[in-house]
Amino acid sequence: MILSRQKPWEEILGYLDGENNIFILGCNGCAQASGTGGPEQVTEMKSKLEETGKKVTGSAVIDFLCEKALVKSRLRSKVGQLEAADSILVMTCGVGVQAVAASVNKVCHPACNTVNLGGSRGEWQGSERCVECGDCLLEYTGGICPLTACTKGLISGQCGGASKGKCELDPAKDCGWELIYERLKQKNQLDILRRFIPPKNWDKMMPEVEIMATSRWALERTEPEGEGLK
Ligand code: SF4
Ligand code: SF4
Repeated sequence: MILSRQKPWEEILGYLDGENNIFILGCNGCAQASGTGGPEQVTEMKSKLEETGKKVTGSAVIDFLCEKALVKSRLRSKVGQLEAADSILVMTCGVGVQAVAASVNKVCHPACNTVNLGGSRGEWQGSERCVECGDCLLEYTGGICPLTACTKGLISGQCGGASKGKCELDPAKDCGWELIYERLKQKNQLDILRRFIPPKNWDKMMPEVEIMATSRWALERTEPEGEGLK
C-alpha cells in the first residue's frame, strides 16, 4: 500500500497555469484507498477544474497506474481525449505518476504527495521507485524521480560527473539527471530547468507520529528478521 495525499489546490492550479485543456487520470489501487485518486476524487477534481474555466477533455480511472502495460492498454480508447489535452493531471502516488509519464508522451502533473510510511515502496515489476519524500517533485523533472533515479538523490540538477550518460558512482546505471534532461526535451519542457525548485522539507521523509500510531503502520512496517507476527 502506498499512501498519498492530494497536493494543496493552489499548487495543483499553479502547475496548470497557462493550460486550458486537461485530461484527468485516477488510480483504483492505493490512491483510491487513500481517498486521493479514485472515481469520487476524479469527479470532484473535474468539477473544480471546470469551475476555474478549464476544459476537462476526458478522464479515466485505471486499476493500477503503476503498471505501464495496463496504463497503455486502457488509454488506447482515450487517444482523442488525450490528444485534445494540454496535459494530464495524474491523481496518484509517485510510482504511478512516473509510470504514466513514461507511458504517454504528454506533460504529466502530479496531483498528490506520497506520504512516508518508513521506506521505499512500489516494488512493482516496473523500474519506477519512490522513497515517499512527502512533497513530490515530479512536476519539475518530467516525471522521473530525482531522489531514486540519481544515485546521490540530487534535486536541483546534475553533479557533473556523468560520463557517456552513465553515473560517476555506478557506471552500470544511467545518470538520472541525463534521463530527466532527455525526458524534458522529449516533452518540450526544457524551460523547467530554469525554474526555481523550492527548498525541500526533509522532515517529510520521516513517518509522522500520528501515522506510527495507526494499524496501517503496524501492518506495513517491515519487521527485523525473526520479529514478524507470532
Ligand atoms: S519526488 Fe520521488 S520520492 Fe518524492 S513523492 Fe515523488 S516519486 Fe516519491
Ligand atoms: S552522475 Fe548523474 S546519477 Fe550519478 S550522482 Fe551525478 S547526477 Fe546523479
